[in-house]
Amino acid sequence: MLSKSKKLFNDAKMVIPSGVNSPVRYFDPHPFFVKKSDKSHIWDADNKRLIDFCNGYGALLLGHGRKEIISSVSKQLKLGTLFCAPTENETKLSELIVKSYPSIDKVRLVNTGSEATMTAIRLARAFTKKSKIIKFEGCYHGAHDSVLVKAGSGSAHSGISVSEGGLKEVSRQTLVAQYNNFGDIEEIIKKNDNDVAGVIIEPILANMGLILPEKNFLKHIRRLTKQHNIPLIFDEVVTGFRISTGGAQKHFGIRPDITTMAKALSNGFGIAAVGGKKQIMDQLSPGGRVYQASTFAGNPVAVSAALASVKILDRAKNRLYPKLERHCAQLSRAIDDLATDLGISHQVNFTSSMMQIFFSDRPVTNYETSVNADAKRFKKMFSVLLKNGVFIAPSQFEVVFLSDAHTSSDLSKTLDAYRLALKAVKN
Ligand code: PLP
Repeated sequence: MLSKSKKLFNDAKMVIPSGVNSPVRYFDPHPFFVKKSDKSHIWDADNKRLIDFCNGYGALLLGHGRKEIISSVSKQLKLGTLFCAPTENETKLSELIVKSYPSIDKVRLVNTGSEATMTAIRLARAFTKKSKIIKFEGCYHGAHDSVLVKAGSGSAHSGISVSEGGLKEVSRQTLVAQYNNFGDIEEIIKKNDNDVAGVIIEPILANMGLILPEKNFLKHIRRLTKQHNIPLIFDEVVTGFRISTGGAQKHFGIRPDITTMAKALSNGFGIAAVGGKKQIMDQLSPGGRVYQASTFAGNPVAVSAALASVKILDRAKNRLYPKLERHCAQLSRAIDDLATDLGISHQVNFTSSMMQIFFSDRPVTNYETSVNADAKRFKKMFSVLLKNGVFIAPSQFEVVFLSDAHTSSDLSKTLDAYRLALKAVKN
């Protein structure tokens, strides 16, 4: 008999390209379809309960269905869902963001991380009157032409699009540096000194598995960009409100010129933000000449979720972040020990509430070392975890996200599932 998910996937494929609305959701032989979620769990269409570590690719820092957020949204639903005129709550949310991020004087609310990074880049170009953007290999900043770019072969830093249909005229304006390579970024800036409009980086790389910045790497970039008057964009779509209420920039003590954030901002609703220095942000229309607009921007439902979410995080920060860090370190070290005991070549990278295992005998510190890890073994591990009730993102290049809703019992069940999965990987 077909599982319900298999049947639903067959139906979906008829009307949705590849049956999914975002490529990362697909995995072989077919994704499971979701029926509902609560706290640390989701249930598939066949009523199988899974401990969720995908967590909306990092959005659900407070877990599914957090009471205060649902109540704030329910109240808003009764008052209205879309006004397309300003609301007081947009200002209140923006005030909280500005208070939490000393690098941000003003902030625009948008809908997605992609929209936020697209706006950040346009602002940087307008501010500097320059064209080129430097990004780092393996960092993901959304699905638009300027950032869907990978380095050319050899030492050519000039970008080529990773997507058919992407304009090479656009991707050529994006230069690609190696993450954690101090000399590479310096060389690119020197070579293109007259025409770099901005440097964009994930301060903690969460789209190549998990890769941490080497000591002083971010400080080095901040120093270089200041020296050359280049706006530095921290893409904190994943790390904003996840690493701390002040994001990764607070953790590393760095003030970028522009910041983007999304996921943990609203704990699972469609909202993102781009903020920065007043002189840069005031370029936005209608007061300025940089165009940015959206029907759904600052929509009252997502704003009410974000307001509730940020208030919880602010109130609970002294308990919440240390707890997540403790849980993540315990789980990561236990998985590390399991793999060591089984004699499997591996690396475990972790920080704060994020972790990933790579099947590799080399430390994973950049794009190259990440893509050279054994992705087949990862796939095997993923499917055994899933069979045993644990859902992590299906790709090696994603991250295991912990939430406030994970209990000690969830973590010990998860470790049991990893034990089975790693044994299967060994064989
Ligand atoms: N920036 C980073 C660091 C991301 O991880 C993502 C998405 O995962 C984006 C930008 C794009 O965000 P969205 O998927 O909301 O467009």
